[in-house]
Amino acid sequence: MSAPTTPAILCGIILHPAGHTLSPLLHATAYAELGLEARYHAFDVPLERLSDAVVGMRALGLRQLSVSLPLKEAVLPLADRVSDAARAIGAANTLTRVGEQLVADNTDWIGVLRSLEALGPWRGARALVLGAGGAARAVVYALGQLGANVGVHARTRARAEKLAAELGAELASPDSRCDLLVNATPVGMQPQIDRTPLAAEHLDPAATVFDLVYRPLETRLLREARARGCRTQDGLDMLIHQAVEQVRIWSGRSPTPAHLRAAALAALRQK
Ligand code: NAP
Repeated sequence: MSAPTTPAILCGIILHPAGHTLSPLLHATAYAELGLEARYHAFDVPLERLSDAVVGMRALGLRQLSVSLPLKEAVLPLADRVSDAARAIGAANTLTRVGEQLVADNTDWIGVLRSLEALGPWRGARALVLGAGGAARAVVYALGQLGANVGVHARTRARAEKLAAELGAELASPDSRCDLLVNATPVGMQPQIDRTPLAAEHLDPAATVFDLVYRPLETRLLREARARGCRTQDGLDMLIHQAVEQVRIWSGRSPTPAHLRAAALAALRQK
């Protein structure tokens, strides 16, 4: 009889629809680099099954679940503890078992921070964020940590007003002057790659333009921004760094961002 093996740690992502997420690839790459005996699965969980999924996570002893659309806000009340960042942002993208407790955290804002810190400093800078969903909330929180003055514009004004009031931002018009423009809407994402959230004539050549979209890596917004002389940042670093932080939370160890980036780029090129 062979010797019993240590059961692999189980992690995963819950989202709906499951679609094509890069998270299983990123986490598997991280586990391989760090020599972690862990497996990561994608689970299709519609909103109405979220509480069942969390009960299942407890019962089955899953170590960590990444939480994606449309579950990031609804997961908060299902956790035993919520980190300060997740509470302030109002959304969690990570649920980690710590002892018998499930802890909700948000690592999207860390991904934003890592994407922007090398392009800063941002203290006192004027940032304009387009969109008022979960990603925009993480962006505004991160920009607040970096000391920027943040204006928000979204097509649903009430959502922008709520975000601004809760996270200390102001409402802004989409063509207002800024040092940093952030697209936190899906406009320009596949398959609608011909769309842009802001007409090129409103792009200030002195500004940095950060698009959270990473499919495609070069969106129309970034292409036009570059043509006008703006510095640009795509959404891949955010995706990489939020995953690096998730792995660090449960394992205490950080994978190399460049390894995850190489794996993601190879996968994106195949699409
Ligand atoms: P969300 O919660 O659904 O919010 C989307 C926001 O964009 C809302 O303010 C929405 O306005 C607005 N919007 C949607 N379609 C629009 C349109 N056609 N014109 C103008 N505004 C529009 O989504 P999210 O989670 O915040 O994600 C937003 C984007 O960020 C997505 O493209 C996502 O892929 C990207 N993202 C990237 C990363 C990364 O790691 N790089 C992480 C998270 C998200 P309404 O409220 O009016 O619908």
